[in-house]
Amino acid sequence: MMAYILIDKKAFFFNISLLQTKFSKQKVGLVIKDNAYGHGLEIIANLAKEAGITSVFVKNAEEAQKIAHLFSQITIFYGDYAPLGENINFVMHSLEQLATLPKNTNIELKINIGMNRNGLCESEVIEALNLIKKHSLNLKGVMAHNGFGDDLGSEFYTQKQRFNKIQAEIQEWVHMHHLPMPRFHALSSSGALRSTEIQGDLIRFGIVAYGYLSTSPLLSDMDFKPVLSLYARKICSKALKKGDRVGYGGQGVLEYNSTISSYDVGYGDGLFRCIGNEGLCAANGEKIIGRMSMDTLSILSTQDEICIFNDVREWAKAFKTIPYVILTHLNKDIPRRVKP
Ligand SMILES: *Cc1c(COP(=O)(O)O)cnc(C)c1O
Repeated sequence: MMAYILIDKKAFFFNISLLQTKFSKQKVGLVIKDNAYGHGLEIIANLAKEAGITSVFVKNAEEAQKIAHLFSQITIFYGDYAPLGENINFVMHSLEQLATLPKNTNIELKINIGMNRNGLCESEVIEALNLIKKHSLNLKGVMAHNGFGDDLGSEFYTQKQRFNKIQAEIQEWVHMHHLPMPRFHALSSSGALRSTEIQGDLIRFGIVAYGYLSTSPLLSDMDFKPVLSLYARKICSKALKKGDRVGYGGQGVLEYNSTISSYDVGYGDGLFRCIGNEGLCAANGEKIIGRMSMDTLSILSTQDEICIFNDVREWAKAFKTIPYVILTHLNKDIPRRVKP
């Protein structure tokens, strides 16, 4: 036996169904990049299909290949072109990239609307459309990423307007050239949840599907349920005395006589390395003692199996980071199972 991750399918369906009810079924797309935010790509893809999701977004061709049979549209954010099938779209970030693709490749055009990270400039849009036509590429979608969904202030709205303007421009061009109309999408979890009026044909939901609202100070009345729990198995127990010290450097000092156990997860499994002063506990309040090792963790507990976390917000807070980071660090090799 070893540490494992449990995926709460009921929680996942609950989250997806909240989104589908609020935003309509056809507008809910799911981002399953980076091993489905650490949850396990294939497990989440199968559950997503069961929940009626038809559009998903992955990191690269390798991820797309694993789940290619499950969805009508799979969009690959980054990396090289690979011949994968008619349901696969490649995101194009530059004019140079457009010129490298074979005929009839499905693409989604990424436009920079203010994050200044990825995508083409607004001024390159018409040139890109002409290249798409010249190279006989299939323009399946036009996307942007509103990078201000979590922030109060006007940028969120400025970016929305920039996308609206591009959308109108592209629609006009597509009409003029009698080509099929692409889909338009610019929002992720936080942007969609703060919006009263939904922009585009689709929303690329990530973090909320896995049970977390982003770091947003903006409130939402929707309560999502965390989907992932991490469990560890006991290696051995020790009865120790008050003042005994545990782990590297003797950093963990026992406040009273107690039995502690070591469990089989550590920073080698992708956990952040706690050193004992974070005040972190396992899921049911069992105290974590001393410095974490590469493959083990000592806890004030004697249970054979322990839930390390079923909500990563405390861990994110302890390391001054966000749930995304805690989740995506979890090693791919930890077995994932669906909770029966
Ligand atoms: C990761 C990602 C998303 C999903 O963002 P969440 O905040 O997890 O909802 C959407 N769009 C793009 C381009 C992304 O890379």
